[in-house]
This record gives sequence, C-alpha cells and structure tokens, in this order.
Amino acid sequence: MAELDKPQREIDVPSDWTYASAPESRDIVQIRERYGLFVGGEWLEPAETYETIAPRDEEPLAAVGQASPADVGRAVAAARTAYADGWSSLPGSERAKYLFRIARILQERSREFAVLESLNGGKPIKESRDVDLPLAAAHFFYYAGWADKLEYAFPNRRPRPIGVAGQIIPWNFPLLMLAWKIAPALACGNTVVLKPAETTPLTALLFADVLRQAELPPGVVNIVTGDGRTGAALVENEDVDKIAFTGSTEVGKEIQRRLAGTGKKLTLELGGKAANIVFDDAALDQAVEGIVNGIYFNQGHVCCAGSRLFVQESIYEPLVAKLERRLTTLRVGDPLDKNTDVGAINSAAQLEKIRELVASGEEEGAEIYQPPCVLPEKGYWFVPTVFTNVAQSYRIAQEEIFGPVLSVLTFRTPEEAVEKANNTPYGLSAGVWTEKGSRILWMAQRLRAGVVWANTYNRFDPSSPFGGYKESGFGREGGRHGLEPYLDFEESEAFGG
Ligand code: NDP
Repeated sequence: MAELDKPQREIDVPSDWTYASAPESRDIVQIRERYGLFVGGEWLEPAETYETIAPRDEEPLAAVGQASPADVGRAVAAARTAYADGWSSLPGSERAKYLFRIARILQERSREFAVLESLNGGKPIKESRDVDLPLAAAHFFYYAGWADKLEYAFPNRRPRPIGVAGQIIPWNFPLLMLAWKIAPALACGNTVVLKPAETTPLTALLFADVLRQAELPPGVVNIVTGDGRTGAALVENEDVDKIAFTGSTEVGKEIQRRLAGTGKKLTLELGGKAANIVFDDAALDQAVEGIVNGIYFNQGHVCCAGSRLFVQESIYEPLVAKLERRLTTLRVGDPLDKNTDVGAINSAAQLEKIRELVASGEEEGAEIYQPPCVLPEKGYWFVPTVFTNVAQSYRIAQEEIFGPVLSVLTFRTPEEAVEKANNTPYGLSAGVWTEKGSRILWMAQRLRAGVVWANTYNRFDPSSPFGGYKESGFGREGGRHGLEPYLDFEESEAFGG
C-alpha cells in the first residue's frame, strides 16, 4: 500500500510541552531568625548582624552575625586551644572517625542542605541535590581515608600538621567549598576558622549543627560570618598559620600582598576564563550538551566555567545553530523547582556586573543571542546568553563574567586553538572535544590550564587535584596534592633529606 493510501489516524498530540511546576518543599529545613558565630562549639552573640536573603525573590531569610576583628580573634583562640589540647596529637585513625561521621550525617541530611543551598544561593535544586551535596559528602569520605595514611602519602617526609587554618570561601558553591577546605585540614590534624561568603552563610551555619551531631571536639572548626572585613581580619590575625582562599583574583592578590614576609602558608584558587574547544570531528550533539553544561551550570557562577567557546571554522554554523536551538529548551526559574535548569543570579551586585559586561559586548560589536524567556518579576535573573562575532580583545572574551554568558570564537588549526586558548591571564581549566585521542593528548600538553577535560566538562572528583596556573592562583585542592598545603615536613635524615 502506498504511503498516501494509509488511513490517517487522528492522534491527540499535545502541542504544549511546558512542564508543570515541581517545587521541592522547603519545610524540611528550619531556618532560625537569627544566627550567632560558631566559636569553641558555642554560639557567640555578635555585636552587629546583617540580613541574608533568597536571591529568587529577595525574601529575608535570617539575621546573621557580622564578625568583628575581636570576634575573629576569639575564634582563632578557640581553634588554637583545640589544636593544642588534643586534636593535633589525636591518632589519624581517630580523626578519620569524625570525618566519616560528618560525611554520613551530610548524606543523611542531604535534602535539608540542598534545599537551604538553593534557597540562599539561587542554584537549581537538581544541582544542589545531585552535585553539591554528594560531592561535599564524598570529600569528607575521601579525606577520612587519608587521615591515618599521611606517612604513606608522603614517604620519608614525616608530615605533621601546621596549626590553625583560616579559610575564606565564595558564594558559588558554599557547602562544597566548605568541604574542599575543611576535610583535608582536619584529616591532617589542623584546626579551622572558616569564613563563608556574605551572601551565602546559611549552609555553613547548618553545618555547625552537623559538627555538634558528630561530637567533634569544640573549637576544632569555628565559623565566623560577615563581609570582606571579616575575611581581612582573619588574614591579618597573627595566630593563623595558613590561609586558604577561593574567590576573585583581585582579593587573592591583596591577600598575597598582606601575607608576604609573614611566613604564613597560602593557597589561592582564583578566577578563570576557560576555553572550551570543539574540533570538526567531535560528536556535535554531545559537544553542545558539554558547552551548555560548561557555561550555564550554576548560572555560570563557576570559576572553571567554559566561558570562551572556540569552534573550528568548518563546523561553526551548524554548531551555533544547534547551540541556539538548545538554549530555547533551557528552563530558567525558581531554584526550588525540580525542573529548573538555570536558577537565580546570586546577588544584585553580581547581576549588575553581568549586565555591565554584556552591555560592553554589544557596544564593542559582538552579536547577542538570547532565547525567548519569561523571567520572574522579583529577584535577580539573567537570560542565558550567547555572543557570536567576538574578537579576542573584547572585554567579554578577556574578563571573567561569572554569569550565564558565552563568547563564541573560531579557529582553523590546532596550533591556532592553543594560541588563542592560552591568550588569557587565567589558567584554571579547559575542554577539548574531538574523536582523536592523540589530539586530546597533544592539546592537553600545550594548554596552560590546571584541569583539561576531554569530551566532557565540569567533572569533579575528590581524588582529582584542582587548581590554577597564572592569575588563577596556586596550590591544589583535592587528591593527595590537596593534603600538602596543610602539612609541614621534616625530611628524614636516614634518606639524606
Ligand atoms: P570575593 O573575592 O570578594 O569573595 C570571596 C571571599 O573573600 C568572600 O568570602 C569575601 O567576603 C571574602 N573577601 C572579600 N574581601 C576580602 C578581603 N579584603 N580579605 C579577605 N577576604 C575577603 O568575590 P566576590 O564575591 O566579590 O565576587 C567578585 C567576582 O569574583 C565575581 O564576579 C567573580 O568574577 C569572581 N569570583 C570568583 C570565584 C572563584 O571561585 N574563582 C568565586 C567568587 C567570585 P564577602 O562575601 O563577604 O565579600
């Protein structure tokens, strides 16, 4: 029977494929009206507080302490006492028990933490639930495993803890950055004073509850909230032995200047402007998913975001067409909705910065594409954006935007791709998309980036070191490398060290 002769059946095909909303209940988490500073295992009443809000609708969530230099001093003193009173001399196997306990409690309470993370930070619940929380727990599990094996991690070097670590973290992965910092520090026998970012203090304050539940000795971890002044007070405190900082290159440089000559240890994990490079033999649909994940994951608030896309000239048009089509399917909206792909921008200040850089891109001559998108009226939002016709000199190709904004550039040969990719003051990460294994290795050897992903993007694992070249900072977090900045070494005489 010819195709046309077949009886046409009437099928009721829905024409509207919009998703029904699927909000995660926020009842699972109890937010207190007011939080103090977590010092020596107790809540210390701060002299001053500020309000932390939900970026999705600017709802006030809680009053949070603004720690003064004197408060920071109390926290450092509590950490010093805990260090001297037993934590540093506890056998590694005993420290490991606490870390395992913390990891398990995080797993048990993961839904509560995921809801709070999305509420206070604006990231989609499916990301906090499926990425931030599992990875945070995995870091504690991983470093629990190292706590009694430090002698094997660094044979003949006699590792010993360094003392009190001051840790300053940003707002893009609040709980995950906390885990990256606290887990290796405790595994190595140090005590900690942690300062969360001003806009996202709530999961760190809930974490204090986990520490109590795990019966961690008081003072081993202290949490002081506040703005940049609190961070600066921690950097300047004379009794801190090491500073670990993740944040902007500008503040990182300032901290490095302040610590010069003090003998304090320092690790800096700073900004990035990563190149995501697609060759003409790559699986294009797969690459498009990787590009989307690379730049729109966590609204682009990611230091290793693939914010510069380099496309081989021969596939430029089909790739950009596929990418723009894919953008029309991204769901931007309520971070607590389980269908949301792109949530709220973290703060009014960050939204302003994104707007300013996007305006500069248009002024300099780049072509902007934004899919049709209805944004909520309240809160901080930005439509996923692609810029084509971008020159290397434009600000959008040079500066870290830290938002859902992609700049597309082209190249002809692998050599040109490497040269353009490395033409940045940063060097945190890169992506390469090609079917050829030998080309992946050739590229990875030449890209000046701490992490190079091949045919994937934004993959994290606690066993894998992460960190930058050039203005992206120094020191590594994760893996065995992540232990080193939290240890001093006494080289063994027997081996001539
Ligand atoms: P900051 O570098 O200011 O913040 C990072 C952390 O440092 C926060 O806890 C912050 O406190 C604290 N801090 C601020 N000033 C000082 C200081 N003088 N001494 C010690 N600690 C300080 O980043 P922003 O939040 O201002 O973001 C600005 C830009 O930085 C972003 O647009 C983005 O480009 C980049 N960034 C990069 C990150 C990364 O992971 N590489 C993470 C965050 C931002 P507070 O929050 O109270 O200001």
